[in-house]
Amino acid sequence: MINNKLISIIGSGISGLICALILAKSSLCKGYIIQIFENEDRAGGRALSIKFNNSIIDLGAGRFSPTFHPNVSALTNELGKIIEIFPFTKIVLPHPHHHNLKKILTELKPKIKSTCNESFYQFLIRHVGIEKSQNIVNALGYDSLFLPEISPKIAYHIIEMHPETQCFSDNDCFDWFNLVEGFSSLIYSLYEMSIDLGVKFYFNHKLVHFQNNLNNTQLCFSNLEQSKILINSEYTVLTLPPTALSLLNINFPNEWTDFTYGSISLFKGFLFFESPWWKDYGFENKVTIVDNPLRKIYFKSDKYIFFYTDNTYSNFWNEKTQKGESEFLNTVMSLMSKALNISIIELPKPINHFFKFWKHGVEFAKENSLEHPKVLSKNNGKIISTSDAYTSHSGWMEGAIIAGRNGANFILKQLEKSN
Ligand SMILES: Cc1cc2nc3c(=O)[nH]c(=O)nc-3n(C[C@H](O)[C@H](O)[C@H](O)COP(=O)(O)OP(=O)(O)OC[C@H]3O[C@@H](n4cnc5c(N)ncnc54)[C@H](O)[C@@H]3O)c2cc1C
Repeated sequence: MINNKLISIIGSGISGLICALILAKSSLCKGYIIQIFENEDRAGGRALSIKFNNSIIDLGAGRFSPTFHPNVSALTNELGKIIEIFPFTKIVLPHPHHHNLKKILTELKPKIKSTCNESFYQFLIRHVGIEKSQNIVNALGYDSLFLPEISPKIAYHIIEMHPETQCFSDNDCFDWFNLVEGFSSLIYSLYEMSIDLGVKFYFNHKLVHFQNNLNNTQLCFSNLEQSKILINSEYTVLTLPPTALSLLNINFPNEWTDFTYGSISLFKGFLFFESPWWKDYGFENKVTIVDNPLRKIYFKSDKYIFFYTDNTYSNFWNEKTQKGESEFLNTVMSLMSKALNISIIELPKPINHFFKFWKHGVEFAKENSLEHPKVLSKNNGKIISTSDAYTSHSGWMEGAIIAGRNGANFILKQLEKSN
C-alpha cells in the first residue's frame, strides 16, 4: 500500500484516538488519510473494562478526579458518560502506622531539596531512619515509593493525587469518580466518532521496524499471519509508551532526548462472591491498606472485592497466576483472612474472579526536575512521539489526553507552515 498523503498514528489508546480525532476534524488535514495501527485486536490500550453479571469492572484505568483531571472530566461530560462516586477515599482497619502519617509527611515536605538527587525512600531514611521509612511506605500501599527513581517530589505527587492516600495530605477532601459503563465505553465513543470522521483502523498490526525514505517514512508492520506490511507515511505519530518505543529500531530514547524513562508494573485482581459478606463488617465502599501482598483491598458496594498492587507485589501476583487458579485463589483468600482478621473458615469462597497484570502499567520521565518537551520528533518533524509519560500527569488518562492533543497540534503546525 503506498500513499504519500498519509498520517499514520501508531497505538489506539486514548492518546492515539484523541490525536486522530483532532486531525480528522481539522481543515488542514483535508486530502490526508488518517490511519491508526494497533497491535491488539481492540482499541483502548491501558483502558479496558469487562462485564460480569451486572457489574462492569475496569481492569486498567478506573477513576478520575475532576480537580486533578479536568480534561477527563470535560471529555466524559461531552460524551454524555454517566459517572458515579469512586468511594475509596475512606480507609477501614487502619494500619498502626497510619496514625500520625499525615503529620509526619506534612512536616517532612518542606525539607525536600529540588537540587538533590536522592530518592523518596532515601529522603525518608535520612530524616526518620530505616525502620520508620519502611513502615511509612508500607502504610501508603504503593510499593513504587521504594524505587530509587521515585524522587521525593514524585512521591508526594503520588500520595497527594491518589484517592486511597490523599487523606495523608492536604488534598483529603477531593471527590473521585468512575464511569458506570467503564472506561472502555469512553474509548468506544471516541472510536465511533473517529470512524464517522473517516479515520481508518488496522487492528492486529504491530509496528516492528522503520526505514527512512527521502520524503516519507516506511513503516513495517507484522500482522496475525506474521506477514510483513509496508506503509509509506508522510507523518507518523507514535502514541506508544516509552518502553514500547525502545523495542523499535529508532534508537529510543538515546537519539531523541536526554530524558530517561521508568516503568512500573501493576496488577488488579477482582473477586465475586455469592453474597456481599463484607457488608456485615461495615467495609462496603471502603478501602483497606494492608502490610501483606494484597496491599490495597477495595470493597465495591454489594458487588465485588478487588485488590490493586504495584511493582514488587504486582510481579508476585503475576507469578501466582502462572502457578494455576487454585494456587492463586488460595493465596488470595489466606492473605485476605490475615488482612481482615477473619478466620479462613468463615471467609466465603469466591464464585468467580478476574485479574490483569500490566507489565508496563505506568511509565514516567525520571528527570522530573526538568520540563519535558511536549513531543519528541525526528526526521524534520515527520516522526513524532507523544506520551502521558512526557506530561506532568504520567500514568493518568489526563496525561494521555494532553499527549494526544500535543501530537496532533505538532502536525497541524507543520501543515499550516507548508500551506
Ligand atoms: C492497572 C492500571 C490502572 C490505571 N488506573 C488509572 C486510573 O485510575 N485513572 C487514570 O486516569 N489512569 C489510570 N491508568 C493510566 C491510564 O490507563 C493511561 O495513562 C492511559 O490509558 C494511557 O493511554 P495512552 O494512549 O497514552 O497509552 P496506551 O493506553 O498504553 O496505548 C498505547 C497503545 O499502543 C499499542 N501498541 C504498543 N506497541 C505497539 C506497536 N509496536 N505497534 C502497534 N501498536 C502498539 C498498545 O497495544 C496500546 O493500545 C491506569 C493504568 C493501568 C495499567
